[in-house]
Order: sequence, then C-alpha cells, then structure tokens
Amino acid sequence: MSTPSKELVRDLAAHVDPWSTAPFDSPTVQTLQRLVPQLTAHQRIWLSGYLAGSVAAAVAVPAAPTAASTPASDPIVTVLFGSQSGNCERLAAQVGEALSKRGVPHVVLDMLDCRKSHLQEARNLLVVVSTHGEGEPPDRAAALHELLHSRKAPPLKHLKYSVLALGDTSYERFCETGKQFDARLAALGAEQLHARVDCDVDYEHNAREWIDAVVAKLASEHAAVPAQLHTASEPTLAPVATAYTRKNPFLAPVLVNQRLTTRDSEKDVRHIELSLEGSGIHYEPGDAIGVVVRNPVDRVDALLATLPYGPETPISHEGSQQPLREVLHSCDIGLVTRTFADKYFERIGQPERAASINVAARVQLSELLREHPPQALGAEDFVRLLRPLAPRLYSIASSARATPDEVHLTVGLVHFELNGTGHFGVASKQFAEMEGDDAVAPIYLHRNPNFRLPTDPDLPIVMIGPGTGVAPFRGFIAEREAQSARGKNWLFFGERHFRTDFLYQAEWLDYRKRGVLHRIELAFSRDQKDKIYVQHRMREHGRELYDWLQQGAHVYVCGDAQHMASDVQDALLQILQEHGGHSAERAAEELLELQRVRRYQRDVY
Ligand code: NAP
Repeated sequence: MSTPSKELVRDLAAHVDPWSTAPFDSPTVQTLQRLVPQLTAHQRIWLSGYLAGSVAAAVAVPAAPTAASTPASDPIVTVLFGSQSGNCERLAAQVGEALSKRGVPHVVLDMLDCRKSHLQEARNLLVVVSTHGEGEPPDRAAALHELLHSRKAPPLKHLKYSVLALGDTSYERFCETGKQFDARLAALGAEQLHARVDCDVDYEHNAREWIDAVVAKLASEHAAVPAQLHTASEPTLAPVATAYTRKNPFLAPVLVNQRLTTRDSEKDVRHIELSLEGSGIHYEPGDAIGVVVRNPVDRVDALLATLPYGPETPISHEGSQQPLREVLHSCDIGLVTRTFADKYFERIGQPERAASINVAARVQLSELLREHPPQALGAEDFVRLLRPLAPRLYSIASSARATPDEVHLTVGLVHFELNGTGHFGVASKQFAEMEGDDAVAPIYLHRNPNFRLPTDPDLPIVMIGPGTGVAPFRGFIAEREAQSARGKNWLFFGERHFRTDFLYQAEWLDYRKRGVLHRIELAFSRDQKDKIYVQHRMREHGRELYDWLQQGAHVYVCGDAQHMASDVQDALLQILQEHGGHSAERAAEELLELQRVRRYQRDVY
C-alpha cells in the first residue's frame, strides 16, 4: 500500500471538517460556527480559560455519573421544544440545565429534528411549545404536530409527559398548540407526569414553577447524582446571563428617527437608530430588539376616568407600594381579552354577562368599564386582573459589523379606527414621538436563533420581505458586505406604491449598483388595477429561483404571518413542483427538508 503524499495529507486536512467529529448536535455546531469566527484572539483565549476552569470546578465535585452533562446515549428525559421566536428554545435549554444539575440524563431536541423513533424510544417527554396566530403551531413544530395527529402516530403507552404551553390571552385560541399536544399525547396512551401549564406573554414565573416541579419529580425518580450533593435551597435555574432584560432594560439614546414613507403615504414607517454604546449588547443579524412599552398619559387618564378609585390609590406591585396611576402605565389596558372578560364578570358577581362580550369585535377596556363598572371590586383586585403590558419585538435592521455600537429598527406606526375613534399602537407611537436630544428607548436583546445567515458566506440567499418585513434583510445585506461574503443576494420586496412606500429605496439601489445586491424584484401592489404581490414575482422568476435553490440558496421570509407567509410558501411549493418536476407531496417533503437543514427560515407574525 502506498503512503499518501504530503500534499495529499495537507489537502485532506484542509478539507476534513473538524466540526464533523464535534460532540454536539447540529444546531449547537451551527451556533458555535457562527460565534467562534467573530471572537478576537484575546476573547478566544479568555473563553478557553473560562471553559477549562468550569470543567475543573465540575470534576472537583465528588465523583458522580455525568451522563446528563452530555447528550446521553440513553436519555431518561427528552425535552422537546417548538419555538418560533426563541422563547421555547431558551426555556428548553433551562430545563436541560436544571436536569443536568440534578444529574438526570436527558436530551434537548428541536421538534423539527424529532422523528417517530425519538418518540418511540423516549421514556419521559417534556414538551415546551408556543402557539401562533389563530392557534397555529410554530413553523418548526408543524411537522411533528401533523405526525402526532395522523394515522402514522406511534402508540405512546410507554411514555410519561408534561407540557409547558406558551401563548397570548389576547387570542381566542390561547395556548391551543400546547393543549393539542397535551390531548394528543394522552390519546396516544402517554401518562401525564405533571399537569400542563399555560403561560401568557409574561411567562417567566409560571414557566419557572413548571420547570422546578417537573425537574424535582424526575430527579426524585431518576437522578444519577447522589441527592446529598444538592441542597434544598439550590435554585433550579441558572441566573440569566444577559445584563439587560425586559425588567431591566437598557436606555438606548435615539440617534435617528426618520420617516421612510413620504408625507402623503397612507403609511408612516420610521427608520430608528439607537445607540448601544456602553451597553455590552452584541447582536447578530436576525436577532430582534425588545422594546419595553409604557402607556401614554392620555390613555391612563381615560381609563382612570372610568374607575371608582383615585389615581393615587396605593397598590402593591412588584414588591413595592405604587400609586394606581403609575401601575396602570405598565398594564395592558387596551383591548379586552376573553380571559379578562371571564374573570372580570366573575369577580363583579355577574358571570352570566361575560358571554355578551364579543372580544373579536375589539372591545376597548375603558368602554367595557363604562358600561359595567367594577362595583365591589377593590383597586388592587382590579389591577390583578390586568396583564402586564408586553414588550414589542422589532427585527434588527442593521449589522453590528457595519455599524458598531448602533442598532437600527424599521417601525411601522400602527393606527386603526374603532367606532369612529382613532387608536394608535402603544409601542410604535412611543417610537414616533421619540425625538430630541434626551430621547431614549428602553430596550433589550431578543435572540432569534432560527433566523440566521448561512455559516458559509459563499452560499446564495433569497430574502422575501414585503412591508416592514424587509427590516432584517437590511441587516443581512450590510452583514454580507461587511463579511465580504461571495454568495449572491436576491431580495423580493413589496409595498403599496413605488413613489410613496419604497422603504430604503436609495440604499437598495446603491447596494445593487455596487454589486452587493445581485437581484431585486419589486411588487407594488396598488400601482395598477390588479394587485401584484411578492409571490407573483417569485413565480415569474420561478426557474431562476429553483436554480438558486439547486446552488444551495438559503431562503428567508419576514413579515405578515396571517396571509403573506402562507401565500409565499405556496409559491415556493409550486416552484419546486414546476421546475423540479416533483409531485405536490414530494415538493412538501423537499420544503420540510430545507426547513430542517435551516435553509428555509421564517420570521413572521
Ligand atoms: P404589509 O401590510 O405586509 O404590506 C406590505 C405589502 O404586502 C403591501 O403591498 C400589501 O399589499 C402586500 N400584501 C398584502 N397581502 C399580501 C399577501 N397575502 N401576500 C403578499 N403580499 C401581501 O406591510 P406592513 O404594514 O409593513 O406590515 C408588515 C407585516 O409584518 C405586519 O403584519 C406585521 O405584523 C409584520 N411585521 C413584521 C415586522 C418585523 O420586523 N419582522 C415588523 C413589523 C411588522 P396590499 O396592502 O395592497 O394588499
């Protein structure tokens, strides 16, 4: 046998991917592959020291089986998450950490990567899943949801499970996906380990309780680490690593607040630039910024006028006594939810009236209170019925490499008429009014690991983002230019009118001229008699789009979840059928596979 030449060995070494043997699952490899090249030499040395130190600390603990700390070959617990914006993924990771601490062998799995065999082999299943739109599962949960509800679903008599459901009580079908998983697992014979917990937008407290409860139960039955290693007071969850959160936001100075649409446009869309200087916030393209919202004074005053309590009435709120007026600034006092209506009428002793409230007709809270005053209900009890005002998430429209210490957002001012009265979206109005030298925005970083550029910068990308859905693609293009990425970039953008609503027109044309943006397709829906949307342009260029897919393109969709996202998906399926010669079924499988390998990613809501 001849020995390979030095050149061949060098050649092979250059082509052997060191990550191929890394002891991580593929999402973790992708995260590391993204992170490591961004670190300076100094940061890498610090990190390796930190990791070595933490391993040393771990081995100093009396010898204990360590199956839980690495994906076990025979995990006792399978933590399954179905995440859209990353919250369920983060919670699943926290469950994993808590199980590790208690020495319980486990594996954390994205629903998109979950096959039938995983369910057949699992013994204890912890499901963390959110619900979207009108009761839909997250994109990455759809295939498993369908499998479980089909005739191909496996019998699950061997399985114990519990579900943590995330949702939003302002939707009729609150936590619907979590409820469906719960019911379906039970119908397939699985035994409930712990009752399902449904969480509203302010999910942290309930989620923490569920995690503590399920982990304690599993640890008492299956812990591989001797129980005496853990004190009763040890917190199950690791402390939050990021400095700024929704409860402790960074006050980012507003550098630019510029209208992108013309004065005579029907829409008011703003380009906002915020300073991150001194915050230590490091974001990646695809991430979002959470903006902590506060009700404006006129909205709080309007509500107070309908209440029998004085504005200074003391309320115990988040550990201190605060005047009612102040507390109402941070409560959801806009539209009535089903949950609120049911609880409110029960508390004022008129439960039969709840059914008369049609929340789908967008009933304002002040309107309801005027007609049905909260007699015999104390101020504090009334406040307890309100939800905290949820922060708003905006996709980041910049690249930290291109504009360090800044983050840019694209904010559409929400305005709607209700019974002849004009209403504004609290968050977007807050932004629209942020002008002047002292203006600051209370923000925090919201990571979105499911919306990421390809790790290989040579791969082409296709970006479909009508309206403000174009925001993350401004960040993507800036990043690709800053990376000197050689992959081609193709943008599909749509809005109502070319003249008034072409968001970032000058920038796109400049990118195009400089060869950074290779193609741009435009769909101005109302510039002609018949509507033209981005999916029409996709179909027109279906052949080339298919060719780009064959070249390994990653496809991204951002914007409206209600109609656009599914219409665009239909167009993609049609292109796969027409130009790939596939049956409808095969095209659906292809698209699912693209999603699985993170080549088809959506940020839609
Ligand atoms: P939009 O309402 O989505 O309108 C943009 C363009 O899309 C218009 O030309 C509109 O045409 C067209 N359109 C309407 N229905 C469509 C469909 N089924 N398929 C394809 N195109 C369609 O724009 P927007 O006001 O900027 O709102 C964007 C959406 O994205 C909102 O639903 C919002 O919730 C979401 N959003 C996302 C982000 C983000 O950063 N990720 C930020 C804000 C908002 P016509 O109006 O003429 O029908």
